[in-house]
Amino acid sequence: MLVCEKAPKGDEGGNTRYCDQCILAANDAERMYNYIIDLCGTIDHDDNAIRAFSEGLAEIPEDLAYLGIDNPVKWSENPEMDSQFPGLMPEYPDSPYGDAVEIYTVNRVISDSALWKALKRNVYKRSDSISVWLDSPATHLIKDPTSGTIVGVEIKKQDEDVLVRANNGVILACGGYEANDTMLQNFIGATHYAIEGTFYNTGDGIKMAQEVGADLWHVGNFASYGTPYAGLTVKVSGQERIDYSLRLPTSGSLFIASDDGSRYLREDGKEVHGRLYANGKWRIPFQMEHPHLIFDSTELDEIKNLGLDMDKLEKQMVSADTVEELATLIEADPDILSNQIDAFNHFAQEGVDYQFGRSPESMRAFDGGTLYAVAYSSFLTNTQGGPRRNADAQVVDTNGVPIPHLYSAGELGSVWAARYQGAGNVGECLTFGKIAGKNAAMPKEPLPETSLPEVEPNIIYEIGKGDLASEPEEPVELGDNQYLGTSDDGIGGDVRLRITYSDGALTNIEVIEEHETPGIGEPAFDQLISSALQSNGKTVDSISGATLTSSAFIEALDDAMSQIA
Ligand SMILES: Cc1cc2nc3c(=O)[nH]c(=O)nc-3n(C[C@H](O)[C@H](O)[C@H](O)COP(=O)(O)OP(=O)(O)OC[C@H]3O[C@@H](n4cnc5c(N)ncnc54)[C@H](O)[C@@H]3O)c2cc1C
Repeated sequence: MLVCEKAPKGDEGGNTRYCDQCILAANDAERMYNYIIDLCGTIDHDDNAIRAFSEGLAEIPEDLAYLGIDNPVKWSENPEMDSQFPGLMPEYPDSPYGDAVEIYTVNRVISDSALWKALKRNVYKRSDSISVWLDSPATHLIKDPTSGTIVGVEIKKQDEDVLVRANNGVILACGGYEANDTMLQNFIGATHYAIEGTFYNTGDGIKMAQEVGADLWHVGNFASYGTPYAGLTVKVSGQERIDYSLRLPTSGSLFIASDDGSRYLREDGKEVHGRLYANGKWRIPFQMEHPHLIFDSTELDEIKNLGLDMDKLEKQMVSADTVEELATLIEADPDILSNQIDAFNHFAQEGVDYQFGRSPESMRAFDGGTLYAVAYSSFLTNTQGGPRRNADAQVVDTNGVPIPHLYSAGELGSVWAARYQGAGNVGECLTFGKIAGKNAAMPKEPLPETSLPEVEPNIIYEIGKGDLASEPEEPVELGDNQYLGTSDDGIGGDVRLRITYSDGALTNIEVIEEHETPGIGEPAFDQLISSALQSNGKTVDSISGATLTSSAFIEALDDAMSQIA
């Protein structure tokens, strides 16, 4: 088997690596089926696919055992887990079938990449029969024009275009279109979303499937979470990420203003993976191009007591003494913003939010002094849409007929049609991954003699050959008094440190290799290094919000220090 991954070493693993690692399971397949049907609401769904999904979810405990995860944490038996992601069990309690929801995590913490690491371990354990090519995006599927069978894949293997024959099947599992602004415009009508996961999910699977005639479904559906649908962001390697270290309140003398300055959602509303309750339904709110949080001096004083990094926040804040000035600064309409503040104050005084039903105790009238604004960005975790698949994980064409030898799994063309139960994407990865894998591996009739002559000479892949993921690590030069320490327990795998230690003093620590989360790992390493140098390597304070990076750093440091004679 060949796995080709678009991302280079260190960035591989997709959203599965970045995600909270919560895995949906079903404690009753039939009740789970009814629950998912309830969540679809009035949106068309494929009954058989949902049935297959629900049955697969009931097998999750066995799947985890197969992956070597012998003692997963079952949330119904560990209610304290709920505090790490409140409201998941179930996310839609209004359905009478919500009790079918079970959640598992590998460990007692979320967001530790543990499931991804287990999957990776299992793939590499089978390296005699599975090759992994990193930095090798699939670019096109090769379809035999006579039979319509998918006979192979064109792959950009690092810099070389190669054609690979697939005897029994091709599985598209290349994620959604979160990082493709054009698809976001076409499918969601939004110009831009900040994302939280991988930057490599650019909808390639959708394009490849379209080229061979696949039907598409659920393209406008996506999941998100956070401060109602918008938040502060930070630029990481030129990309916009949500900055959770600056989470601002949702109550007080504040509201979220839309592009023209008017409110567009209930700021303290319950948010369910990107949906808010509005007009009788759980809906994805309107997308704004430049929403802002607007607040007054009283609110600012309260924010100052939250222990946030105020220097960082103040850099993102604008202030004005008049509504007109503030409106100009945030490109809103001054009359609309002014009317909105008046209306908000009136609702706060009346104790009723006639606009969005925000709880009266969460509303305080503006104090009439200086006004402040910070720019928010809408963000999403992952999209659900893509090529339509059936219960056998076969990709189907626009007439509902399976495209021979083409399968899909994961969030690409997910069965989640509308409302989404958290943890359901990873549950779907495991469930449809298993179905697709079994069906794609099943021996088939020999491939048709392809009438594409140019394909033949270039089909190059042999199992176990040319595995880019197992290429040897770059050697590290060590001078006098230098030692190399390693840990493979970072959030993205290997962390390697070169330390310099002489005459009883730790004088330098260099990070030689790391694959930690962009924007979190780097600042954490700076702090960890300075803490380690100060204590001469004896104690290192773990960085809050980067616990795994910290423990991998400490392990690698201990490894290096242990080599000092
Ligand atoms: C912050 C965050 C938290 C989340 N928490 C949870 C959670 O706790 N539980 C849950 O169920 N879901 C969660 N999700 C959603 C979930 O992570 C994803 O939906 C799921 O992991 C998708 O898995 P996948 O295998 O389909 O895609 P991914 O894991 O994203 O993998 C797709 C892979 O395809 C590669 N790729 C892209 N294009 C190509 C190409 N042309 N050729 C080859 N490779 C390509 C990408 O590089 C990537 O590695 C979360 C998402 C985020 C961002």
